[in-house]
Amino acid sequence: MKKWIALLLVSAMVLSVAACGSAPGESSKGEDARFTTAVEGKLTMATNATFPPYEYLEGNEITGIDAEIAAAIAEKLGLELQIDDMEFDSITEAIKSGKADIGLAGMTVTPDRQEEVDFTVSYATGVQVVIVTQDSAIASVDDLFAEGASHVVGVQRNTTGDIYTTDDIEKEGLGTIDRYGKGAEAVQALKTGKVDCVVIDNEPAKAFVAEVEGLKILETEYVTEDYAAAMSKDNKALYDAVNAALEELIADGTVKGIVDKYITAE
Ligand code: GLN
Repeated sequence: MKKWIALLLVSAMVLSVAACGSAPGESSKGEDARFTTAVEGKLTMATNATFPPYEYLEGNEITGIDAEIAAAIAEKLGLELQIDDMEFDSITEAIKSGKADIGLAGMTVTPDRQEEVDFTVSYATGVQVVIVTQDSAIASVDDLFAEGASHVVGVQRNTTGDIYTTDDIEKEGLGTIDRYGKGAEAVQALKTGKVDCVVIDNEPAKAFVAEVEGLKILETEYVTEDYAAAMSKDNKALYDAVNAALEELIADGTVKGIVDKYITAE
């Protein structure tokens, strides 16, 4: 598209937004001027609250980095935040079907997922790490890929830990993957000797290792990745509004403040 046409289109969009008058959430009909959400007046977030410190239960309440970022986005958009807890597996479908507006779950941006959903700008970095028992023979990540290796690896189903180890270990004939619904269940399987290690994101790994005695995280990292919010490809207006809000919250230091509150720098 020629640059000036694009510019014209943008200014036409700005004008039409301005013409709508009232800010989101303030419309007298209760209808949002710029975008629609799953439930009117609400930003519905799909998550899996078993992933500390990004999302976890404190009593009956879902709290954590993602919950606070979503609350800040909702506030900027004049919406009330509603959080729906579900299996990690189900989040993409909830977004695609329009039941939820935003999937915030320490979710890694991957090319396959990008075919299903649109990702906002990234707001955090994750690292896949390996948890082993303190007396484990596995000393580094490379031991998992060594010739003749045959470990049983515990993962949370359909997470990137599952996806990578399936490719790198199972498909290469270097071991088998045991898939669990929750990261904590995989860690429990490690504790009871059902699996030889667990591949999972570094922050929940730290939380689990702090809770369960006799485990440690290998110093070598498996892979570094970007976390972003997943949104529908069919609601461009909401995507633009959420993405812009998130960009502002990153730029003004709000996101960093939230992350720092939960993750103490070593
Ligand atoms: N970052 C990992 C992924 O996107 C794990 C996320 C999670 O378990 N909540 O697959």
